[in-house]
Amino acid sequence: MWEERFGESVYVPLADRAFADVLKKVDLTPDQVDHLIVTGLHARAVGSFTRRAGVRADAVVDNLAKTVGNTGTAHFGLLLADTLDRAEAGQTIVVVVLADGATAVALRTTEALPARRAALSVAAQVTGGRDTLRYADFLNWRGRLTTEPPRRPDPDAYAAPPAGRNTDWKYGFTGSRCEDCGTRHLPPARVCRSCGAVDHMTPERLADTYGTVATFTIDRLAFTPSPPLVAVVVDIDGGGRFKCELTDVDPDDVAIGDRVEMTFRKVNTARGIHNYFWKARPVRAAGSTKGQEA
Ligand SMILES: [Zn+2]
Repeated sequence: MWEERFGESVYVPLADRAFADVLKKVDLTPDQVDHLIVTGLHARAVGSFTRRAGVRADAVVDNLAKTVGNTGTAHFGLLLADTLDRAEAGQTIVVVVLADGATAVALRTTEALPARRAALSVAAQVTGGRDTLRYADFLNWRGRLTTEPPRRPDPDAYAAPPAGRNTDWKYGFTGSRCEDCGTRHLPPARVCRSCGAVDHMTPERLADTYGTVATFTIDRLAFTPSPPLVAVVVDIDGGGRFKCELTDVDPDDVAIGDRVEMTFRKVNTARGIHNYFWKARPVRAAGSTKGQEA
């Protein structure tokens, strides 16, 4: 960040150059850009460059500062996803990121865009956010308020080698399906537990697949950043059963048959290592009702 004015004097010329370079490569002028996304932690430089970029006023993408804040590294992806929710086929999107220098990327949407949009838009997720979180919980999750932890052993710190070996499972919730008999395995397996076939598996990404609560329990002693722990067994649509924590839910409202979706969340922090994995949460998409296929 440095001092505000100094940062601006360094960042803005870099952004100017990156923006001019990328437009030259794709043979466009600033007024032909349909959506301009500018993001970075240096708000003053971001604002300054946005104003001087020379694009049409309606092409400047709202940076969501007033509703979401600044999510840091994730912010350019968030703004791009939000833009793709609204963009039409054949439009030009330019992303300028100010972070340890300036990066500009030019993208062109295709006819495939409308069919590939996410079921739940970024705007719908923003307006659908819960505002019931207690400030004390927020401070606790941020490590600024210390509360008495559960009287249980501390959770184990996660290690890099298993994360490295199971990257697709850990980060993509990718299971496997037997090519011989069709049985789905969660976590992914090399040997089919139904027919015994070895290494006849097709990876299956299940992060966007819904499931149904088969059974659950509410544990008031187990470790979770958000007690009490609601532990659920989820039957994933199309096969596969998975045990995990149910989050973003009032424990009194949980019922067998509830429809849930998977969400990538912080599980714990142990010895300074943050561990993220998949939890379930109630389905948010419009039109999905309890106990029905959505
Ligand atoms: Zn099989």
